[in-house]
Amino acid sequence: MIGIDASERTTHLPVVGLPWSAIEGKLDELAVGDAQWRRGRTGSLVYCASEEVTQVGAQAYTKFYSENALGVRAFPSLQRMEEDLVAITADLLGADEHYGNVTSGGTESILLAVKVARDHTSTKRRARGVPEILMPATAHPAFNKAAHYLGMRAVRVAVDRDFRVDPAKMRAKLSPDTVLMVGSAPSFTHGVIDPIEELAQLALEHQVALHVDACVGGFFLPFLRRLGNRVPPFDFAVDGVTSMSADLHKYGYTGKGASVILHRTKTAHLDQIYRFGDWPVGHYETPTFMGTRPGGAIAAAWAVTQYLGEQGYLRLVGDVMDVTRDYQAGIAGIDGLRVWGKPVMSVFGFGSKTLDIMVVADEMERRNWYINRQAVPPGIHLVLTPTHRSALQDYLQDLAEAVKIAEHSVRADTRAEGSYA
Ligand SMILES: *Cc1c(COP(=O)(O)O)cnc(C)c1O
Repeated sequence: MIGIDASERTTHLPVVGLPWSAIEGKLDELAVGDAQWRRGRTGSLVYCASEEVTQVGAQAYTKFYSENALGVRAFPSLQRMEEDLVAITADLLGADEHYGNVTSGGTESILLAVKVARDHTSTKRRARGVPEILMPATAHPAFNKAAHYLGMRAVRVAVDRDFRVDPAKMRAKLSPDTVLMVGSAPSFTHGVIDPIEELAQLALEHQVALHVDACVGGFFLPFLRRLGNRVPPFDFAVDGVTSMSADLHKYGYTGKGASVILHRTKTAHLDQIYRFGDWPVGHYETPTFMGTRPGGAIAAAWAVTQYLGEQGYLRLVGDVMDVTRDYQAGIAGIDGLRVWGKPVMSVFGFGSKTLDIMVVADEMERRNWYINRQAVPPGIHLVLTPTHRSALQDYLQDLAEAVKIAEHSVRADTRAEGSYA
């Protein structure tokens, strides 16, 4: 990687501040070694609809650069934008009412959903021992992080050959301490939707909360469905789903630091809010984990959603699905490679039963692609966006070359798909 000369490291403040012109140059210099997402060279991390959309978000962000959503009474503008974003997301995700907040990202949305389930005043379920979260093996690590932070236990259940969890296996792991079950729509790992209806049945039966993690799918699946594709039920339309997370900063194409947490009931939303009165300034109350909240992230999200509108998102989902089909067809067209499972959208993994996919990954990195590796089964992970269109031919050409090299290298003990379950 090309980077900044270590001898130029700044370990103390410059005595005299630098002019912007010098700083801008340094910023560009610092970014020289960064992954080239604009050219579609990253397998994930950046979701860009177009330069135009990015500009709209960036300008809105800058307008509210200094405003603080901790003080919504001081900034009714931010309160209004947050309420709009929550209502819009609830509408997309089949909720009749809208109870929730804009958070800093998927992780914070998940932390809040877990906290509400732990405090369980909104469900009848009470844990006797350490409260447990029951989830598919493919659920995002944020649930384990939440369990770790909130003094809970996370229990992961193996998924089947199709990378979806079997409700019977979830049922078998339910314990008197289970307070929350999780399903992904879709999973970040393989882009498949867990059987939400069956999980919801189970949740209702045992009076356990059910969180549907639509962090990556929340601003994609509703439009995919409207375009006439079959999308299995996954949202609040399914009775038994108690909370959902949907990331604006993923397929909402807004600036980083924006996600939405939604609850089915007002009681659950009230459980989310933290209140404290015993300090000299008096009553302190925050709905999320943060104190000070960047107004910019909320304004950018509001601006981008308004700019794109339903038609904009429909068009983008159509574009991304076209890109996805082209990538998947190209990958499947290379001898030895296969896409894992049946991904419903633009998030998926691929690997091989005959060659060492890690050699392929190494070779791709050597060719200047930023590669996300998957461990089980060994694979390469892709999250596709409109920016990946221009990289298609180069990617497939390099992939074919990388596969040729892998064919001639030592065969790895690539685990068969079946051993995953
Ligand atoms: C991205 C993602 C998360 C975590 O969101 P962050 O914004 O990275 O904190 C959680 N679950 C799923 C399914 C995701 O795709």
